[in-house]
Amino acid sequence: MALEETQEQNQLHFLVIPMGSPGHYIPTVDMAKLLAQHGVQVTIVTTPVNALRFGSILDQAIQSGLPICFLEFPLPYKEFGLPEGCESIDDLPDMKMTGALMQAYTSLQTQVEQYIEQLNPRPNCILADTFLLWPGETAKKFQIPRIMFDGMNCFTQMCNHVLHLSKVYESVGDSELESFVLPGLPDRIELTRSQLPFAFNPKIKGMSDYNEKLRVSESEAYGVVVNSFEELEQGYVDEYKKVKGDNVWCIGPLSLCQKDESEKVQRGNKSSVNKNECLKWLDSQETGSVIYACLGSVSRVEPAHLIELALALESSKRPFIWVVRAGHKTEKIEKWIEEQEFEKRTKDRALLIHGWAPQLLVLSHPAIGGFLTHCGWNSTLEGVCAGVPLITWPQFQEQFYNEKLVVQVLRTGVSVGAQKTSVLWGDDDKPGELVKSEAFVKAIEMVMEEGKEGEERRKRAKELSKMANKAIEEGGSSHRNMTRLIEAIKNQERNTKLI
Ligand code: UDP
Repeated sequence: MALEETQEQNQLHFLVIPMGSPGHYIPTVDMAKLLAQHGVQVTIVTTPVNALRFGSILDQAIQSGLPICFLEFPLPYKEFGLPEGCESIDDLPDMKMTGALMQAYTSLQTQVEQYIEQLNPRPNCILADTFLLWPGETAKKFQIPRIMFDGMNCFTQMCNHVLHLSKVYESVGDSELESFVLPGLPDRIELTRSQLPFAFNPKIKGMSDYNEKLRVSESEAYGVVVNSFEELEQGYVDEYKKVKGDNVWCIGPLSLCQKDESEKVQRGNKSSVNKNECLKWLDSQETGSVIYACLGSVSRVEPAHLIELALALESSKRPFIWVVRAGHKTEKIEKWIEEQEFEKRTKDRALLIHGWAPQLLVLSHPAIGGFLTHCGWNSTLEGVCAGVPLITWPQFQEQFYNEKLVVQVLRTGVSVGAQKTSVLWGDDDKPGELVKSEAFVKAIEMVMEEGKEGEERRKRAKELSKMANKAIEEGGSSHRNMTRLIEAIKNQERNTKLI
C-alpha cells in the first residue's frame, strides 16, 4: 500500500522499542517490517551502532517504500562504564556488565518522551521489549496502549507461570539434579533446578526485585505479541490466553518475512563468510547431509566444551558447518583450531565460519540435514521453519524449556544430554557443564540416521515447516492475528476519541 494512501486513511503509528541483544533486536525489526506491510507507520527507537547493525535488515523494505523510520539517540556509554560503541549484550567485554547496559538503555526514556511530547497526533501504540521497564512508564504517562514482546514462545510463558505460582522446585530442596513435574501443563514436563532460568535462582543477586517489577509491568501492558504460530503449540497458546486474556497475538515465525537471499544474509551483523562461497560450498554437498552447528549470539561457551563439539563433528564423518564464536573466549578456541590444524584436517568436508554466520541463508539450503543449536528461541524457530531436525545443546535461561518443547512435545529434536545451565550467560566463574564428544556424536547419529525413527523425525520437521509457512500467508493464523492486533489498536483509538 502506498504511504500517501495509508496516511489518508488515518494511518496508525507504532513506536517500536527494541532491546540491545540480537535475539531481541532481530525479531523486533522483522516485526516492524510486518506491521509496515499491514499499513502501519513504524518508528523504531534505536542507538547509533544498533541502527547500523540491525537497521540494514530493513534496507530493502524501506527502499521499497514501506513506512518505517529510525529515531536515533546516543547511548551514554561512559556514564555507565561501557566501552565506546557497546550497545548490545553480545558486544559486552564481560557479561557481568549486562546490568550497566540495561541502565544505559533507561537513559533513552527522557529523549523518547520529549519526542512523543512534540508529536501531534501521538503514536497509537508503543510496542516495546518486555525487559525494558521504562516504556511502561512512558506509555502510562501519555496514555498510549503498550504491547510487549520478550522474544519467547507460549510454552516458555506457561513454564514460567506455573513455576512462579506453584514453586514446585522447592519440593526438591537444594537438590540441583532431582527432577520435578511442572503442574497443570498440557504435557508432562519434568525439569531440574539446575535447568531453570536465572529468575528462579535465588543465588543471583538483584533478580527477585527486577522480576517483581517485570511482573507488574507485564500485568499493566495492553497485550503481548509472540514470535510463534498457533499450530506449533496450540495447547500452550490456549493456556497462555487463559492467563493473559485475549490480547495474545502469535504472529510468527517472524523470520519468514525475509524472503530474498540478500535479506537472509544481512541479519544483525556483516556475515563473516562470503555469501557466494558459502552457497557454492553448500551446493557441492548432498541434500540433507550437512550438520550446521551454531550457538547463537550471546553464549560464551568454554573453549574446553567447544573442543568436545569440534571433535564430535569431526568424528561424525559427516559434512558440517561450525560457527566459531565465543565472545571474549573466541581467541582461545581459535588458538586451539590453529594449533591442532583442525580446519586443515577437516577441510574436505567442513566449512568453519569464524564470526557471524548468515544463519537464515544457511538453514534454508537443502543441503542442511540437522541443526545443532543452543535452543535460543529464534534459532529454534528458524530451524523449525527450515524443516530440519535439531540437535539440542541448551546453555541457559529458557533454552532448557525450548529443548523440552522440541524433543518431547514436537519430537523433532534429539538432546545431547546437558543437565545444567551455565550461570550468568556462561561467564567465567561458573562455566556450565562439559558434554563429552561421545554424547554429541550419539545425538548427531540419531538425527541423521536413515532408519524409521530418523525418517519419521524428518517427516515431522518438514510438516512443521509447511505449517509455519502457511501461518504467515494471507488467511493463515499469524496473518489473521496481525490483523486482529491492528484492529484492536484501532478500536482503542476509536474508544479514546469517544470518551
Ligand atoms: N544469528 C545469526 N548468525 C550467527 C548467530 C546468530 O544470524 O552467527 C542470529 C540467529 O539467526 C537468530 C539470532 O541471531 O536470529 C540469535 O537469537 P537466538 O534467540 O537464537 O539466540 P541468542 O543469541 O539470543 O541466545
